[in-house]
Amino acid sequence: MTPGAHVPPHLSRLDRQETFTFSCHREVRCFTDCCRMLELALTPYDVLRLRKATRLTSGQLLESHIIIEQDAGEPFPRFYLTMVDDGRASCVFVTKQGCSVYGHRPGACRAYPLGRAVIRQENGTMEELFVLMREDHCKGFQEPISQNSLHYCRDQELLPYNRFNDAVAAILQHDSIRKGFVPSAKQIDLFVLALYNIDSFRELAQNDQLDAVALTPAEKNCLVQDEELLLFAVDWLSRQLFAPF
Ligand code: SF4
Ligand code: SF4
Repeated sequence: MTPGAHVPPHLSRLDRQETFTFSCHREVRCFTDCCRMLELALTPYDVLRLRKATRLTSGQLLESHIIIEQDAGEPFPRFYLTMVDDGRASCVFVTKQGCSVYGHRPGACRAYPLGRAVIRQENGTMEELFVLMREDHCKGFQEPISQNSLHYCRDQELLPYNRFNDAVAAILQHDSIRKGFVPSAKQIDLFVLALYNIDSFRELAQNDQLDAVALTPAEKNCLVQDEELLLFAVDWLSRQLFAPF
């Protein structure tokens, strides 16, 4: 959402310290109702975490659980979690007992009913914005638990998600994109590889098959760790996209 943009009626801007009353748990009448008919966009860090939950590789997740779409005029594709054809368009991970990947569920699921956006400012800093989504079907607003957005993010363990999403936002909101940069087909492939197919990216990095990068054994060792690898991938991709030739 851009500052000043029209806000739909069920969304309201929330100041960081502003409180809202909400809680979600197994006893709510609507338990898991919100895990259906979703356009659940996944970030690179979501995919990294879902690998841990499912024990699938990033390539397997991309093949079986993720839909890739690119709208005309958008520089990069978007990645959506698959919904299954069960008459309710349920999330591939929802069960009667709840979310089967709960400990590694995507950031948007953790944040709900909050939405978080970061907007890159002229001076390069990121401004954080929150909105509250008040949807009629969600009974969590009737629960008497009060918190502000910062407490809610902490309780839902969103801080690492925010950290990695902000790193990726620096690419998505790069000045060059604002000025109309259009990536080549090869650069779009690199975007998918580096951010969403991290297992293949690691293999290329460790076998010295990445363009313009020769890693020392110590650097390769660091990339065994998923989070370090993702930060390296963001930095590498940024250079592949925006470095002057
Ligand atoms: S609809 Fe709201 S209260 Fe119900 S399960 Fe989903 S988030 Fe929780
Ligand atoms: S990942 Fe889990 S919390 Fe998110 S929509 Fe699917 S089942 Fe619900």
